[in-house]
Amino acid sequence: MVYLSSVLFALVLGASAFFFARSIGRVRRNITLGRKVKLDTSLATMMRVALGQSKMVVRPVPAVLHLCVYLGFLVINIEVIEIVIDGLLGTHRVLSMLGGLYDVITAAAEVFFVLVMAATVTFLIRRNVIKVKRFQSREMSKWPRLDANIILWTEIVLITALVVMNAADQALQRMGHAHYPETGAFPITAHLVPLFMGMDAGTLVILERAAWWFHIVGILLFLNYIPYSKHFHIMMAFPNTYFTPKRAKGHFPVNERVKQEVTLMLDPSQPAPEDTGEPATFGVKDVFDLSRKSLMDAYTCTECGRCTSQCPANLTGKALSPRKVMMDTRDRMESVGRVKDANKGQWVDDGKTLHDLISREELWACTSCNACVEACPVNINPLDIILQMRQYLVMEQSQAPEALMVMFSNIENNGAPWPIPATDRFNWANAQ
Ligand code: SF4
Ligand code: SF4
Repeated sequence: MVYLSSVLFALVLGASAFFFARSIGRVRRNITLGRKVKLDTSLATMMRVALGQSKMVVRPVPAVLHLCVYLGFLVINIEVIEIVIDGLLGTHRVLSMLGGLYDVITAAAEVFFVLVMAATVTFLIRRNVIKVKRFQSREMSKWPRLDANIILWTEIVLITALVVMNAADQALQRMGHAHYPETGAFPITAHLVPLFMGMDAGTLVILERAAWWFHIVGILLFLNYIPYSKHFHIMMAFPNTYFTPKRAKGHFPVNERVKQEVTLMLDPSQPAPEDTGEPATFGVKDVFDLSRKSLMDAYTCTECGRCTSQCPANLTGKALSPRKVMMDTRDRMESVGRVKDANKGQWVDDGKTLHDLISREELWACTSCNACVEACPVNINPLDIILQMRQYLVMEQSQAPEALMVMFSNIENNGAPWPIPATDRFNWANAQ
């Protein structure tokens, strides 16, 4: 029986690992649709921002709630590791060999049951009852709203399974059941044991095993859901912050092709530029033109809306939402991936681009203030995408707001943004 259970568990675990690895392969393939760029790395940034949650603290209430869930996730995962070992070896509470340390782990996990449950219920209330403004934007309807609720309800259900499992286990321990030796410390679920003491040992074993299987199968299903969800940030936040660019905030990277052409215009004696292998277009038309870092950013977005809530364009009623820019980028990347999947890995033009999802009105509403980059808790840069998409509009499509077109034309004709010929520049001085 134990052997059969271990084989079944190994099969479930193997299938879950297979499908999860396939999903990660899909994400990796989609990120590599973008341009390869030289990436900066910073372990310190990753430790500070992803592990240390340093950018969360500006909003204390969600910061504390998120910290409860984050630490709970780490501590409760020790129990998940134990469940996996038990499942494979047919043991029961194998980590009890740690003695006193096991008591600390089980007690800490139980405290986090309560904290995570409280935080999760509060998150649900904030989203669905209080309706916190940053979760009500137009991009947060339908799937993003459902996704957030699925994640929160799943966490509640999974923790409930652990509570039932621990309480039934303790009832069996107190009965002196041969397979449930006394171990662990359970300061929370100990209070629920009287509810279970009226049951016979057979029923309790079924209940404990059912909760055990429900919890671990639920975890494995959830693991496979994560790469399709905003919850993917729990994995992506680490590489994304590790690859945070080191350039100064607000620094706009120079487009080398433009620089070379301008240099040549100003000084024709300069040698003609070498072919740098830069893309044939200026700016970003579609996800293929974005850097892989921008695409990684899109998969890392938690849809928290901190960027949008700080965006002056959004706050003054403009169409722009930096969160939507990231969500649209991810959606486009996924749809390009699906086209490739349907065509044996080959790209077949579907007649759409990223500009079909992000409008000119949104792009030109950006003031390039950098507030979204500053606010993002996982170092995402929506501004990079916006600026490069604008560059495409101007340099490839000659599309810019009227005021900018006039300025461009003045620069081209007069060498200055004003409608005055260069020869008349000093007329103001002569008029004195
Ligand atoms: S840089 Fe643009 S998108 Fe970001 S906050 Fe400022 S205006 Fe909004
Ligand atoms: S870009 Fe950053 S701040 Fe904006 S929604 Fe995504 S994770 Fe939140």
